[in-house]
Amino acid sequence: MKNFETAAIRSQIERSGFDEHSSPLYLTSSFVFEDAEDMRASFAEEKPKNLYSRFSNPNLTELIDKVSQMEGAESGYAFATGMAAIFSTFSALLESGDHVVSCRSVFGSTHTLFTKYFPKWKIETDYFKPKETLSVEKYIKPNTKILYLETPTNPAVDVLDLEYFGRIAKKHGLIFVVDNCFATPYLQNPIKYGADIVVHSATKLMDGQGRVLGGIAVGRKDLIQEIYLFARNTGPSLSPFNAWILSKSLETLAVRVEKHAENALKVALFLESHPCIKSVKYPFLLSHPQHSIAKKQMKLGGNIVAFELKGGLKTGREFLDKIKLCSLCANLGDTRTILTHPASTTHSKLSEEDRLEVGITPGLVRCSVGLENVEDIISDLHQAL
Ligand SMILES: *Cc1c(COP(=O)(O)O)cnc(C)c1O
Repeated sequence: MKNFETAAIRSQIERSGFDEHSSPLYLTSSFVFEDAEDMRASFAEEKPKNLYSRFSNPNLTELIDKVSQMEGAESGYAFATGMAAIFSTFSALLESGDHVVSCRSVFGSTHTLFTKYFPKWKIETDYFKPKETLSVEKYIKPNTKILYLETPTNPAVDVLDLEYFGRIAKKHGLIFVVDNCFATPYLQNPIKYGADIVVHSATKLMDGQGRVLGGIAVGRKDLIQEIYLFARNTGPSLSPFNAWILSKSLETLAVRVEKHAENALKVALFLESHPCIKSVKYPFLLSHPQHSIAKKQMKLGGNIVAFELKGGLKTGREFLDKIKLCSLCANLGDTRTILTHPASTTHSKLSEEDRLEVGITPGLVRCSVGLENVEDIISDLHQAL
């Protein structure tokens, strides 16, 4: 097994006849066969071969192998978006009548899957709140099949104890699925703690430059096979071009995430010391309520800092209007520092009560700290405050 950075750079598909150093882009929808027998054997899956890019493509193969190594997973499959990976994972593994136990703090569209679409197929979800993690067993029923969570959570940056949840999942025979998007495989590997499947929005730090959308699911081979068959037949496949971009991006994931986290810690410390700030949440700040869990399972604190201004909603909005350098944008994990106001944007469709339950207070601002010079990031925040 190669070390992380080496796997990120050196896992490559076989060279073509041109002896290229960096993997080429295979922008082709389909592949040819030598003869009728080759075609028959390929369709019968008697030998591994690319047939059609909805099923597989060399650029996807490279990306999937790479991320599987980075997460310590047996196998994986890549998708057009993070949501396609999440939807396909659930759809492939759940039957009508099954039950899911999930943390309430999940990505907005994942919440919509649980509350709007899965009930149509008689799949019910019960939520536990980040603050009541130690009593999660009370939500498990005889028909519970999947335990699902994200850590750190979006946007409140709570940290959930993967070791604990891995133990609960094992004890109750549940499939443990973790969205590892905020941490990236460089900072945290949920499979080590018993996760069966790890999903990612590759759109975020994996690309890291705000260019392409992508998603990936990696984990247990038998489960991935089901997810693959679902995806192969329903069509959420990643384009070879985006797979090629993402595979190149991952070559620099380790150095980028190191720098993101270094900048984020400095931003968090600056905010914590500023008189206009009511509270700051960042996993590697001593004041973070789950600081010791973060230290146990994460290599660094990541790049998301959540903070609350004194004065609530009005002050929060005035602050954003004064920002000059940072972007006001819905994405995260970009080279560019991005600020969002969850209560009026990404989480505006939730009731005030639901927002408070997951730690989204009216004045909460989420900062995805980028790779600009940290002095410039801090001075922009400083002048706006
Ligand atoms: C963005 C995001 C997703 C969805 O990914 P897309 O690529 O936008 O479909 C899922 N989970 C988390 C934690 C995210 O931040």
